[in-house]
Amino acid sequence: METIERAVDTRHMQVGEEIAIQIRGMNKWYGQFHVLRDVNLTVHRGERIVVCGPSGSGKSTLIRCINRLEEHQAGQIIVDGTELTSDLKNIDTVRSEVGMVFQHFNLFPHLTILENCTLAPIWVRKVPKAEAEETAMHFLRKVKIPDQANKYPGQLSGGQQQRVAIARSLCMKPRIMLFDEPTSALDPEMIKEVLDTMISLAEEGMTMICVTHEMGFAQAVANRVVFMDQGQIVEQNTPTEFFNNPQSERSRMFLSQIL
Ligand code: ADP
Ligand code: MG
Repeated sequence: METIERAVDTRHMQVGEEIAIQIRGMNKWYGQFHVLRDVNLTVHRGERIVVCGPSGSGKSTLIRCINRLEEHQAGQIIVDGTELTSDLKNIDTVRSEVGMVFQHFNLFPHLTILENCTLAPIWVRKVPKAEAEETAMHFLRKVKIPDQANKYPGQLSGGQQQRVAIARSLCMKPRIMLFDEPTSALDPEMIKEVLDTMISLAEEGMTMICVTHEMGFAQAVANRVVFMDQGQIVEQNTPTEFFNNPQSERSRMFLSQIL
């Protein structure tokens, strides 16, 4: 919990009526292995969801299904009104709305920080180079590393690289951000700078789903904690309720191990 020092107050922030993500009766198999079972989840515009649960419970698979890095086999996933099916047009539409940040930053090592941030806007969005660079510098300032723009990823610390990965996602102007354990590969002293970046995004009203075991972050910014075990959403609740009054034996056991 000590990683969050700044008082965060997101109570003034409105959660819209509008639905950003709707998942209904979703099931997924890897071959014979039934990895996600009857998942139902509704995320409203501006909501900040923390997903937690034991290793192997399906958290990564769930969020990778939301931008179709993985395919589901049954049920529905609707993102901003577009249903994810095998229709490539829909997949493109959804990917253009959804940014994703991974545990391992996945920056291109042979491109500078600035080039990492402008590559997709220039080649996918056809944004003119000067404009893409201006946008990239805007977001690099936002994640507080504009001075690193001309360096290569290998010259930056892990925390700085992860902030670049966040800036790079933001350059595509997503309406939804997915984070998959963005701090779990970082040394402790770098976790805070990445969480601070995520907090400032939350404060600006970004719709976010974050897989993380940073329970201080969950307490501070999540509207809702979703607890998964064995491919199912076992429990969803406000952070206060989830931490103080977990409903299931499995969530109690999980919390006793991580807190
Ligand atoms: P979590 O992120 O909660 O640790 P994952 O979604 O990564 O869980 O994995 C859920 C389960 O699916 C695990 O048992 C994992 O071994 C399995 N799994 C993950 N990816 C694949 C894959 N590409 N092929 C087969 N099984 C996989
Ligand atoms: Mg995972």
